[in-house]
Amino acid sequence: IIIIYTLLILQGKLQLFYSVVILMDSTTATAELGWTIYPSQGWEEVSGYDENMNTIRTYQVCNVFDNSQNNWVRTKYIRRRGAQRIHVQMKFSVRDCSSIPNVPGSCKETFNLYYYESDSNTATKLSPPWMENPWVKVDTIAADESFSQVDLGGRIMKINSEIRSFGPVSRNGFYLAFQDYGACMSLIAVRVFYRKCPSVIHNGAIFSETLSGAESTSLVAARGVCVPNGEEVDVPIKLYCNGDGEWMVPIGRCMCKAGYEAVENGTVCRACVSGFFKAAQGDQQCLQCPINSRTTSEGATNCVCRNGYYRADSDPPQMPCTTVPSAPQNVISMVNETSLRLEWSPPKEAGGREDLVYNIICKSCGSGRGGCTRCGDNVQFVPRQLGLTNTLVHISDLLAHTQYTFEIQAVNGVSDQSPYSPQYTSVNITTNQAAPSAVSIIHQVSRRPDSITLSWSQPDQPNGLILDYELKYYEKNQAEWNSSLTRSQTNTAVIRGLKPGTIYVFQVRARTVAGFGRFSGKMYFQTMTEDEYKSSIQEKLPLIIGSTAAGLVFIIAITVLIIVCRSRRSPEGSESEYTDKLQHYTSGHMSPGMKIYIDPFTYEDPNEAVREFAKEIDISCVKIEQVIGAGEFGEVCSGNLRQPGKREILVAIKALKAGYTERQRRDFLSEASIMGQFDHPNIIHLEGVVTKSSPVMIITEFMENGSLDSFLRQNDGQFTVIQLVGMLRGIAAGMKYLCDMNYVHRDLAARNILVNSNLVCKVSDFGLSRFLEDDTSDPTYTSALGGKIPIRWTAPEAIQYRKFTWSSDCWSYGIVMWEVMSYGERPYWDMSNQDVINAIEQDYRLPPPMDCPSALHQLMLDCWQKDRSNRPKFSQIVSTLDKMIRNPSSLKAMTPLSSSVHLPLLDRTTPDFSSFSTVEEWLDAIKMGQYKENFANEDFSSFDVVSKMTMEDIVRVGVTLAGHQKKILNSIQSMRAQMNQITSVEV
Ligand code: AMP
Repeated sequence: IIIIYTLLILQGKLQLFYSVVILMDSTTATAELGWTIYPSQGWEEVSGYDENMNTIRTYQVCNVFDNSQNNWVRTKYIRRRGAQRIHVQMKFSVRDCSSIPNVPGSCKETFNLYYYESDSNTATKLSPPWMENPWVKVDTIAADESFSQVDLGGRIMKINSEIRSFGPVSRNGFYLAFQDYGACMSLIAVRVFYRKCPSVIHNGAIFSETLSGAESTSLVAARGVCVPNGEEVDVPIKLYCNGDGEWMVPIGRCMCKAGYEAVENGTVCRACVSGFFKAAQGDQQCLQCPINSRTTSEGATNCVCRNGYYRADSDPPQMPCTTVPSAPQNVISMVNETSLRLEWSPPKEAGGREDLVYNIICKSCGSGRGGCTRCGDNVQFVPRQLGLTNTLVHISDLLAHTQYTFEIQAVNGVSDQSPYSPQYTSVNITTNQAAPSAVSIIHQVSRRPDSITLSWSQPDQPNGLILDYELKYYEKNQAEWNSSLTRSQTNTAVIRGLKPGTIYVFQVRARTVAGFGRFSGKMYFQTMTEDEYKSSIQEKLPLIIGSTAAGLVFIIAITVLIIVCRSRRSPEGSESEYTDKLQHYTSGHMSPGMKIYIDPFTYEDPNEAVREFAKEIDISCVKIEQVIGAGEFGEVCSGNLRQPGKREILVAIKALKAGYTERQRRDFLSEASIMGQFDHPNIIHLEGVVTKSSPVMIITEFMENGSLDSFLRQNDGQFTVIQLVGMLRGIAAGMKYLCDMNYVHRDLAARNILVNSNLVCKVSDFGLSRFLEDDTSDPTYTSALGGKIPIRWTAPEAIQYRKFTWSSDCWSYGIVMWEVMSYGERPYWDMSNQDVINAIEQDYRLPPPMDCPSALHQLMLDCWQKDRSNRPKFSQIVSTLDKMIRNPSSLKAMTPLSSSVHLPLLDRTTPDFSSFSTVEEWLDAIKMGQYKENFANEDFSSFDVVSKMTMEDIVRVGVTLAGHQKKILNSIQSMRAQMNQITSVEV
């Protein structure tokens, strides 16, 4: 029978979606297939034609009239070639049993498909035996449609196509077998294949060909690789190949990196062409360069600005490059006494930006020497001086009758990048006559039951010659309109006819030809009660009796009286309701003859304070030797001082650097005016000042060992505890003296203690300027509202609301104690200032430094009491330290006191060894890095051997300084302790 088959070739369709690999195809056989047949009268190989009239080989069987058929045909050995799941496509036709006349009931319309795995082609005619098991049955295959009619001219027949699959297969190959058990059928074509997911580019990544898994449900994960110049976004990119060879479940994706855009359906990342850029990774296309910018190469990630154009840091890359504004135009100035209104029009060229602002630069040119200087801080600008958004500013508090130049700068977001910026327009003006500014402070000089003597400073801006002052006063309990007025030609006045023991309110104002200035703020002073007055006279009487002449007695009586009246309230006493406004010169229980400190800034002319408290030295007596340090106002040198009639001494010379302003000179010399008032072995001693020649100098005793913090760091571990306590005792004695003088230091820190050759420590640094705003950029002093504060050394109440008292100095003293006992370690190590503030607020305190006796740490904790009234007085600190020195055994106890209410901060003095990977790192951490080589040379290079080191070993590696030996040994001991802990945990 010649059968013409029309084969439906599914192959093309398959390949559209998946890749298939053909392992065997009966339709491509050119000669006989030669499959093995059993029994010989069963299946029969027959030639036929496909739709292209190519000959194909088929197998047929049609023994429907014989009962119990069992006909097998077995393919040749088919190699597996890595596949795990095998697919078999069968094309066949089956004759409809009902169409065969007289057919017995045994006629079938189905057949069975089997497979048998084998590592080699070893099958024979009889083996494997023709039966299920060893053969594995895949399925019974039924025809969807069977044929019933034979047309001899062009055979009409129905061809069935079925696909079955099986797996997992693992041997090198397999055979297939078709079992007929009574059908009339023809096996037209058999194709055996496996599936794989083809190589694809998906979501910007390339996936290589991947074989599907063993089960139809199994998913095989494949990692993709981004196409060139693509980058993975977030997660690694993946696809899964399913059992049918289809890609599914895409995870992640790749995107073209900056400078590249996706083309050709996302399969290629192409560099942006010249003139285009792409700033970031992503799907977006390259953009054309914005105005005034260009690219320098292909694949640009940004466009650079053309010359003269700029981009501010916050400008997005797609924004055009912009330029600086031209100068403001049409400035109009209107002077009103010492005020000025400036108005102008915006510049012609705004630079292409919208962030144009104006700055006003004020220069006063009144000195007549040709040069102009920047105006001082007191000139007021409304709404402000810098960053004006409107074209108008009011300027006030200028000096009267003075020439000024104002520069109005136009500035925008790119001004700081241009060398030609800012452009400005200047205007010259001269101020007119104006009333004086307000007096800022009034002091009480003395008081009696019926009178008070006051003095005050001249207004900052007298604006002319002051003719006189007007003083207004009234009882605090009375209404203001009831006030009395009195005039004074000088800046002092005695107000008589007052009631005893009564608080009065005082205000003062200055008058020039331009009229009265504003009144000062209200100040409260209290007259003495009669009793106070009597007892003060009696207390001082024995002193007076000791004097000789009656006239002299009178003068001394008055002097003593003034001293008493100037004397402070007890610095350690309680405060009254008027603390802040009531001046400090109310009476107290000061011992006769005790001086109190006078703030040089209360002097009308600060130069007068210098003259009063510092001795002028002739420059010819001073010989400068060498520079030893840098101070706030210039260099610090060592040198010699030889004054007539005195022996030559070593001195330190602080010089005011050239180009200073009047204010800097005043601030510089204020330190001398303060220091000159002190006389104590633990306060740096002022020899004098040089103000009559240039440079201006402050000359003090020379302290051979420099500042305490660096001295301790250089001599780490070198002193006995008693020596350290001796230093602390000296500092405390100096502070007690300052406290008795009613002077609050505000910046007590080891860096401000100087040490001489006998290890005597002296308190120094009485300068005030470092506290001022806009001062140096020294990070120790952090800007806070109203000035700068050395946070780590300062008591919380002083940080919070500027309550600087002897008890805030006491807090700082506790920090100095910690600095001393830790040999100059930085308080709170590398914690940030804000963390320090928070930790203190939560009651954390510094832990005891290494080897610090607990008695000393307890004293530190006492100094760091939150409630300042609980902190010890400096007199108590001195006597406590004296007791320790007398009784050194009190310094033996080292265990930290657990009863403390304070929580210790994490103790960094014993480092955590697990954080070091090498012995070198550990040595660095305990600041013994200088011995790294010694350790390495002696093979102490692992923690194992180091932890077993003895004192002899430490000496052997060359650590000779006792302090260092101790430090290393201590650290080794805690290393051992930590190691034991670790082992016990592991066990
Ligand atoms: P000061 O301006 O006081 O902070 O001084 C700056 C540095 O100069 C200090 O840290 C010291 O190292 C050094 N210095 C200042 N005064 C003296 C002095 N009297 N004797 C020795 N060194 C000094």
